[in-house]
Amino acid sequence: MNPDLHQLLEDGIRRLPEIRKLFMQLKKRKPADLDMIMADLHDQAFRQIDCLLCGNCCRSLGPRITDRDIARLSIALRQRPSQLTDNHFRIDEEGDYVFRSMPCPFLGDDNYCAVYSDRPQACATYPHTDRRRFVQLLDITLLNVRTCPAVALITKKLVQHYSQL
Ligand code: SF4
Ligand code: SF4
Repeated sequence: MNPDLHQLLEDGIRRLPEIRKLFMQLKKRKPADLDMIMADLHDQAFRQIDCLLCGNCCRSLGPRITDRDIARLSIALRQRPSQLTDNHFRIDEEGDYVFRSMPCPFLGDDNYCAVYSDRPQACATYPHTDRRRFVQLLDITLLNVRTCPAVALITKKLVQHYSQL
């Protein structure tokens, strides 16, 4: 079953105050089992949500592109790294490479990624909800509630989890 992704996002945005409150508590308490709980909620959410019906992150968020990403993409696309960089990337205010424009130039109308197997590492790990030491990613996760329906769903379940304790 695919949940209504717009509804999930709207619901997540509406619940931001309670998510922010929980995250402030988690920052202080740093529960030892948080990574395990998040990994479970992440798996549950992505069993329900099909990213090909969404594509929001590829349309609106610019991943940070590393030199290794550029090296890998340049081989896959058979372009020199300098040519690839000139065509697609710029340096942002923090000195990192990001896409020159969004939506991502590699995103198809069908939401498929044209460079999926060689995509930037930041794309492959988005939305980072199953990352180790998740407590360090609470601020970015709060921002991602506005973009990613999966994050909206995961944070909803996380609030429910801690409200039952
Ligand atoms: S490279 Fe692929 S996964 Fe990354 S933003 Fe572009 S379309 Fe999305
Ligand atoms: S925003 Fe979230 S649900 Fe949508 S495509 Fe990206 S990771 Fe998947």
